[in-house]
Amino acid sequence: MGMIQTESAPTTAPAAMRGVTGPEAGAGQGPACAECGQQIVRRRRSARQNSALCLACDQKARRSAYFQRYYETHKDRILAKNRRWAKDNKHKLVLLRQARQARLPREAGQPRACIDCGTLVVRAQRCRRCYIRFRYATDQEYRARRLATTRRWLDRRQRLGPRLDTAAAPAGVAAN
Ligand SMILES: [Zn+2]
Ligand SMILES: [Zn+2]
Repeated sequence: MGMIQTESAPTTAPAAMRGVTGPEAGAGQGPACAECGQQIVRRRRSARQNSALCLACDQKARRSAYFQRYYETHKDRILAKNRRWAKDNKHKLVLLRQARQARLPREAGQPRACIDCGTLVVRAQRCRRCYIRFRYATDQEYRARRLATTRRWLDRRQRLGPRLDTAAAPAGVAAN
C-alpha cells in the first residue's frame, strides 16, 4: 500500500500520459487514445492532430470544435432559422418529441449491478447465480423443484456415464 511501483507505471498511467513511442510501445502496442482507449495508429503526422487521440476521436473533436465556432459566429441567424422552421413544422416537432421519448427508456436502461455480488446485470436485481441462490434460500417449492431436477440429472449421468459432461449440468447443481 502506498508503494510507488515505477516498473508498472507505464501500463497503469492514464492513456494521455503514455509516450507516443516509448520503449514499452513495441510489438504493435502503440499508445492508447485518451478518449476511447483504442490503440492509436497513424499514417502521417500533422500539426493539427491531437496526438493523445486516435484518428476517429481526433476528427470528431475537431468537427465538434468547428461546429461550436460556427454556431457562436452565426448564433442569431441559426436560432431565427430554427424558430421559423419550428413554426412551419409543428407536426414534425411532435413526431420528433415522440421519437425522443420512445428512445428514453432504452437509454435509461443502463447496466445495473447485482444487489448480492455486484456483477453487471441488464434488468434484474440479481445475476442468475445469485437469483438461484436467493430462490433456494427463500422459496421451498422452488428448492424442491430444483433439487428434483438435479437428482434426475445425476441419475441420468450415472446411467449414461461421463458422456454427459458438466456443461450440461442444470444450474442448481452448483448451488447444492
Ligand atoms: Zn479514440
Ligand atoms: Zn450476483
